[in-house]
This record gives sequence, C-alpha cells and structure tokens, in this order.
Amino acid sequence: MTETFAVEQRRKLVTSLPGPNSVALQRRREKSVSRGAGTLANIYMDHGAGAILVDVDGNQLIDLGCGIGVTTIGHANPAVVTAAAEQAAKLTHTLFTVTPYENYVRVAEKLAEITPGDFEKRSILVNSGAEAVENAVKIARKYTGRRVILSLDHAFHGRTNLTMAMTYRPWPERAGMGPFPGDLFSVPVSYPFRDGLSGADAAERTIDYIRTHIGASEVAAFFVEPIQGDGGIVIPAPGFFARIKEFCEENGIVFVADEIQAGIARTGAWYSIEHHGVVPDLVTSAKGIAGGFPLAAVTGRAEIMDAVQPGGIGGTFGGNPVSTAAALATFEEIESKNLIAEAQRVERALLARIGDWAERFDIVGEVRGKGAMFGVELVRPGTREPNPEALHTVLTHATANGVIPLDAGSWDSVLRLLPSVVISEELIDDAAGVLEEGLAKAQG
Ligand SMILES: *Cc1c(COP(=O)(O)O)cnc(C)c1O
Repeated sequence: MTETFAVEQRRKLVTSLPGPNSVALQRRREKSVSRGAGTLANIYMDHGAGAILVDVDGNQLIDLGCGIGVTTIGHANPAVVTAAAEQAAKLTHTLFTVTPYENYVRVAEKLAEITPGDFEKRSILVNSGAEAVENAVKIARKYTGRRVILSLDHAFHGRTNLTMAMTYRPWPERAGMGPFPGDLFSVPVSYPFRDGLSGADAAERTIDYIRTHIGASEVAAFFVEPIQGDGGIVIPAPGFFARIKEFCEENGIVFVADEIQAGIARTGAWYSIEHHGVVPDLVTSAKGIAGGFPLAAVTGRAEIMDAVQPGGIGGTFGGNPVSTAAALATFEEIESKNLIAEAQRVERALLARIGDWAERFDIVGEVRGKGAMFGVELVRPGTREPNPEALHTVLTHATANGVIPLDAGSWDSVLRLLPSVVISEELIDDAAGVLEEGLAKAQG
C-alpha cells in the first residue's frame, strides 16, 4: 500500500511502558471502573491511524489486535470518520422501528450482496455481536419450532446470559454467573493440531455425538465460527463444515455462521465460511463491520428471517444512523481499496515472516491463519501440552515494547494476531522481531 496516514507508521517509544500518564489514569481507573473489565495492557490510548496507536504519553505502538478485530480497515479510517461526522450532524436517532431511514436499508441491501448464498435475504441490525447471536437463536427457534441450540467446543459467542452459555470457557467468562438457560449443547469441533482427524472423520464424531447425546430432530440451530477466534484461531479441517451443513439440511437444522470476528474482509474473503465452500442459512456480522462503531447484524434466508412476527425482534439503538453510515463507508473502503486483497497480502507477509516459528522455537506448536487472522499455539517443548506461562511471557514482553497482540485459546496458550489489513510489511517485520524476543525469553 502506498497510502499515507495521519500518524507515521512506525513504532516509537518515548517513555517506558506504561508511561507516567497511563500510570496516573490506571490509579483513577482502579477507583472507578469494575475490576471485572480486566485489561490486557494498562496503556491508555489517545489516538491512532492505520496500524499505529498513540498513547497518552506519546508512545507509538503497533496494534496487532484491532480491539479484537474491529478496526480492520485501520484506526480512525478517514472515510469512516467523515461519514460518521456528517451523519451525526444530520440525524443521530429515530429508532428504525418507529420511523425508519435509508442507511439501515442500504446496509441490509449490502449485507444481502456480500454474504454467501444466491437467494433472497433479509437482515436485522443490532448493537453488539452477542445481541446478533441472541437474535439468530430467537429467529431459528421461531422458524423451526424447536428449542435446542448447538455450538462447538472452544466456541465464543458472547457475554450475555444466553451467549455466555453458548461459549466454551468456564473461566473467566462464566464462573459464578449462572444459572444459564437450558437446551444449549456444546459438541466436538475439528481441531487438526490437537485431534489429528480429517474433516470427514471429525464431522462423523460430531454427528455421532449429536445423535447419541441430543437427538438431531430436537435441534433448531447449529452455530459455528468458521475460524474460531477466542478459541485460538482454530481452523477446522477441510470437509468438516461441508459435512456438518449436509447433516443440518438432512435434519431441518438452521446452520448459522458466526462471522463476528472472522467476517468482513479480515480473512481475505468477505466471510470466512467461503474458505470452507459452504453456504450458511444465517450469518452474524459485527466487530469489523463499521470501522470501530457499534453495529451488528443477522443476515440470512428470507423465509427464516421473515418467520418472526413484526415486533418480535428489534431494539432501541439497533442500526443507529451514525453506525450504519460508518458501515456504508467501511464497505465502500473495502471495495474501492480492494482490502480483501490487502488481507491476502497480510497473510503472505505473516507466513513469510513467522511461518517458520514452529521450526525455530521449541515452544511453538503451530502457526496457522487466514488473511489478517493468525494464531501461534504455544506448547511445552517436545509436546502438545498447552503453555500458558509462555504466552504470558510473550504478551508481557510485547506490550512493554510497544506491540499489542492478543491472547486466545481454551488453555490460554495461543498468541492471537488480528492486525489491520492496512499494516505494512515493515511494521509486520518490526512487530515479529519483538514477538521473537518474547518467544526466546519464554523458551528460557
Ligand atoms: C466478539 C464475538 C462475539 C460477541 O460480540 P460482542 O460485540 O462482544 O457482543 C460473538 N461471536 C464471536 C465469534 C465473537 O468474536
């Protein structure tokens, strides 16, 4: 890319991290913000551009996380900023279900175009990923008249009571927060690094589990992340989702692709299910959809989406005029700047730079990913045993040196990289160097 950014695209440290202004803010935060909102690095940000964040002490950090995959098209993307500011000056709220407006319709039209499947589609817009998943559950239950909802082992579907119960990890997401709703089941995923199964064999294991534990005829919907995000960038083996989708069709089950993290250009396709060659019935979108503004959507087959009675779904802020303006600008940026190809460029650059880490570091079990969505699974040397201490060391080293990656995985042992698709090769190289120092330290 030859784009110019409002902040020079390079790492620059002017204090130790966190700097004095961050430390002062952290003291205030401890007295005012719930400790339940845990923080990866106590470095307070002031502004950003492209793949660089600038903190309150003037340090420039390389962002490899995008606030968990949200600012995919770069921080404070100028097209998004302009569209949102212009819309905010015109109209900020009416509530679409009271008196509607065009932005909402345009986003729904665009979602029908970019989501997989050549059939009539409808969308509902909401505020957060979890809210989209909740609505997809409601819609699928209404359409099928059934109650059971399936999700995969290592899944992450959100933090509301229902979606938390569809999420895999007992700690820290769920501990002590029950009771949870019933009729939700977690079934085996395909995790090639850990189970060594082909996609077909893993799918048969999953289907057998459903038949023997749950009963296919009870199931309303099967929720999958085509590439699991919080679960550790788990990419099921080829053929797994094709067989699961076929099983859903045979049994009248709605197949839902939760694309909240992997969707919207991040993996080098509009939606990550495209890599598996499967067309879902419903798709959830959120995180990267509006360049940093809160917006989420459920999109899918018209007959499923329209099974709900008018007034059956909605919400006060859903599809807010400013968020939808930001989403339209995001779609336009992705298309006019060919950012799907940029995500593929990031994949090539990452593979070239970090693809050999499993050979170079005893504690790296596997490097895997698609587009700008990568995981580095850390293990105890010579085994596949998860190594959360190593991840902790790498994250501590990285954040102290101006690089912000993410953690992931049911065992807290996967280094997760979700950079912007506009990140340069130079920044990838510099950030990888810092992560390598962390890996060397963790290896001891
Ligand atoms: C983040 C995420 C959610 C929840 O989205 P929120 O906006 O945080 O509610 C759901 N599913 C997946 C796959 C996610 O990554």
